[in-house]
Amino acid sequence: MVESRFLTPEQARHIRDQFGTPVYVYDERTLVGNARAALAFPNAFGLTVRYAMKASPNAAILKLFRGLGLHIDASSGFEVQRAMRAGFEGCEISLSSQEWFDDFEELYHKGVKFNACSLNQLRRYGQMFPGKSVGVRFNPGHGSGGTGKTNVGGPGSSFGIWHEWLPEVQEIVREHQLIVERIHTHIGSGSDPAVWQKVADLSLGLVRQFPTVTTLNLGGGYKIGRMPYEKTTDLQEIGQPVREAFVRLADETGRQIHLEIEPGTWLVGNGCCILSTARDVVSTGNSGHQFIKSDTGMTEILRPSLYAAQHPITVFPESPETTTSDYVVVGHCCESGDLLTPSPEDAEALAPRTLATTRPGDLLVIDGAGAYCSGMSAKNYNSFPEAAEVLLQPDGSPRLIRRRQTLDQILQNEV
Ligand SMILES: *Cc1c(COP(=O)(O)O)cnc(C)c1O
Repeated sequence: MVESRFLTPEQARHIRDQFGTPVYVYDERTLVGNARAALAFPNAFGLTVRYAMKASPNAAILKLFRGLGLHIDASSGFEVQRAMRAGFEGCEISLSSQEWFDDFEELYHKGVKFNACSLNQLRRYGQMFPGKSVGVRFNPGHGSGGTGKTNVGGPGSSFGIWHEWLPEVQEIVREHQLIVERIHTHIGSGSDPAVWQKVADLSLGLVRQFPTVTTLNLGGGYKIGRMPYEKTTDLQEIGQPVREAFVRLADETGRQIHLEIEPGTWLVGNGCCILSTARDVVSTGNSGHQFIKSDTGMTEILRPSLYAAQHPITVFPESPETTTSDYVVVGHCCESGDLLTPSPEDAEALAPRTLATTRPGDLLVIDGAGAYCSGMSAKNYNSFPEAAEVLLQPDGSPRLIRRRQTLDQILQNEV
């Protein structure tokens, strides 16, 4: 039987009794260990690790990471403000956004580092801040995301400036006398060192086109193993060829380029589970399935419905249980797509799992729920309140880091 990643049945019951379910449980020890490992990423001429905060933006996590020396990758002006409220300085935040927004001037004066992600953004920046330094995010024409929905490089992706528009970039830079000091690429390159070598070479090729560049940001996208059969990227392994590519550039040109990486998933993905309760168990007969109806679903974890993502599920039965059974686990939303055990190939197909025999009231632990779960949910669908979040401290005691939303809070902006 699979065990939950870090939560014991005793801790789980204690958290349920104190905070109710569903509740996100973050493990401080895992988060700290991952942050330290990321800070040890191989580099030749210095390293900045930015937490891609969209993965999970709770202030407690931001503060924890800030204390360890991480900086921030933000994807919107709102994220920038949120990071600042958690204590980050503007100069510790890099912004790569799909849209230009009106309060950018204010953020600029607070020192936020801007990466132009389109020709229009770069032009606009040049008009507002001629002669100033800027970062440019390129789509180097190559991606290896998991699915169409998570692929962030190549011709099918709108992120970053398409590499063939380099002459246009150079023209805008010349026209507004901009100083390109950072090149940014984030293509979701997975766990293969050969792919990372290629990404580093492609990206350093772009660095060669801009003599003023001092920093190369390779983005995030380091895959993690949530299920036992999946592998977590070894940062030391993929970082070595990257480091060597930086050394080669320095040998040839004398330019010592600073490295930045921006992991989101890798830092938090396996550092959190959702603790939930089996509310009901139903069957559709001999030729059908047994279903567990969990009080957690797309309102807390959208990834299975959206990407057919696989998350480990462990049952903590209330009474000692040695038998198992095959179950389809569904969420609490009135939506047939609210499925926690989809087939890996098809988000709409049912893939039963063998779990401990489950009765209503038993606890379920959904692991690997730290990245793009709390921060990316179908919030308030069916008027379910946003779930609470707790941080399991190194001494094993849970600390509340976000209260459960109330019905009044759901309604407060209705007029
Ligand atoms: C989302 C994002 C990341 C983090 O991606 P992960 O897959 O969570 O590591 C890093 N950089 C940028 C620009 C992003 O948009």
